[in-house]
Amino acid sequence: MPMFVDTSPPGQCIFCRLVANEIPSAKVFEDELTVAFMDIGQVTPGHVLVATRRHAATLLDTTPEEAAAVMQTAHRVARAVQAAFQPPGLTLLQANGALGGQTVAHFHLHVVPRHEGDGIALTWPRQEPPSAVLASHAERLRAAL
Ligand code: 5GP
Ligand code: ZN
Repeated sequence: MPMFVDTSPPGQCIFCRLVANEIPSAKVFEDELTVAFMDIGQVTPGHVLVATRRHAATLLDTTPEEAAAVMQTAHRVARAVQAAFQPPGLTLLQANGALGGQTVAHFHLHVVPRHEGDGIALTWPRQEPPSAVLASHAERLRAAL
């Protein structure tokens, strides 16, 4: 069962249209597999999205090459963000599925400059289960790889 019920016709989602220059955007970088552009929401100044050029709804819909290319572009963009805006912190965030916090069903990674009191919050409820539970989870994952 996919994480996202992708209702847009092929090539017609908002980011596909942005990639194809059918809607305006402030682009930062493009290569064969990726496009980086300013997030319209600018949570902090310099907030960039790195998306796959091809439509893929979530991480699970990308190829390994696309996933690697997005991180490579994010690495390059992160260095540019650091040089241009000099934030004291930098957060990369990538959401999958509505329950994962994704609102646009075209794979993208946020590069977000961080500052004291910027209002960004992600609650992280630690559970700290016993080591036997960790071992069991690891075994399930190794079997699924
Ligand atoms: P998500 O919630 O899926 O992780 O992030 C979607 C992001 O896309 C949001 O931060 C939102 O501001 C941004 N966004 C939505 N529509 C547009 C658009 O038309 N142009 C640009 N540049 N960003 C958009
Ligand atoms: Zn798309």
